[in-house]
Amino acid sequence: MPSKVFFSSARANMKLSGLKKVERLFRRSGFERLFRDGDRTAVKVHWGEPGNAAYVPVPYIRTLADLVKKSGARPFVTDTNTLYAGMRHDAVANLRAAAFNGFTMETVGAPLVVADGLCGTDASPVEVAGTYVKEAKIAGSIRHATSMLVVSHFKGHMLFSFGGALKNLGMGCATSAGKQTLHSDVKPKVNRAECRGDAVCVRHCPEGCIVLDAEHKAVIDPERCVGCGECIVVCPHRAIPVNWRGSAARIQGKTAEYALAAVSGKEGRVGCVTFLINITTDCDCCDWSDTRLVQDIGYLASHDPVAIDQAAIDLFNAAPVAADSDLAVHARAADKLLALRPEIDYTYILSHAEKIGLGTRKYELVKVDI
Ligand code: SF4
Ligand code: SF4
Repeated sequence: MPSKVFFSSARANMKLSGLKKVERLFRRSGFERLFRDGDRTAVKVHWGEPGNAAYVPVPYIRTLADLVKKSGARPFVTDTNTLYAGMRHDAVANLRAAAFNGFTMETVGAPLVVADGLCGTDASPVEVAGTYVKEAKIAGSIRHATSMLVVSHFKGHMLFSFGGALKNLGMGCATSAGKQTLHSDVKPKVNRAECRGDAVCVRHCPEGCIVLDAEHKAVIDPERCVGCGECIVVCPHRAIPVNWRGSAARIQGKTAEYALAAVSGKEGRVGCVTFLINITTDCDCCDWSDTRLVQDIGYLASHDPVAIDQAAIDLFNAAPVAADSDLAVHARAADKLLALRPEIDYTYILSHAEKIGLGTRKYELVKVDI
């Protein structure tokens, strides 16, 4: 049976703002019934790396947190620490980064919690009968929440091709050790023939494990590499390709199984809202954001994280390409994600998530306030 995915367009006017549309979408999706008196409700967001400006804007998060509150629940806005040594590596730095991007208790109207604790070690293991994962290391505050609102920004990604609800759940709810497990197959290697020795990757590697050798070619220390994939995305000459066979399939499969673990114990208590605005080539972990690939599309809400990701992809593929964007040269491509990253079969995370019972790729799009 198809899952319902509710859709509201990004068009707005003086009588119906984007915030009001998101509020109406929340009600129309029946989310008020997900959250109950006394619930500790995790509002799982990605508050973005400082320097990035494409993440979901704070007023939308406040609107959603207020709606959760009205249902009697006690929301907290949450994200996890990153794997790599950057500006969100521990809770102190992470909360500073959140504040830099406008997320504070005052602005979102709910406490901010770094779900895996001060050092990313607050884990709650969840058993998974998966192909790739037997025990997922889920952030303690996600695990102990009674219910969850998964607020995702749809955009491109260097390893997954796209980021949406599944990635927000699977990667975004994992502790640092969990993220390490997810990335453990990502072993980037420099294509020496393509390397121009400009050291962009050297400057961006958060672990400092890339050097230029005597021939001015980049060399990665595999012992210290944590597989974050930053070098893949920053190399201006695409000299560090994604190894699809060795890494991208496994990371997608493992992330789907982590997503299943993140919602485990919250059956019927999880809602997803996805924003199809400011859709950029790269993820909100990057400390920059390029111009949008397509004009803003709108907002989606569903109980099903697989269906909402599939609907987001379909809407993205159907949208007109923005001039002077990374997609300008692929204006006629039927599959924009594939045109951007032909080496990645991004459908694997969807099919695997469907196979393990997380949801369905079949959906009915219910249009609200178009
Ligand atoms: S960014 Fe790319 S081209 Fe530049 S040094 Fe690194 S691998 Fe070589
Ligand atoms: S070498 Fe690349 S993947 Fe490894 S830690 Fe550095 S930036 Fe991340």
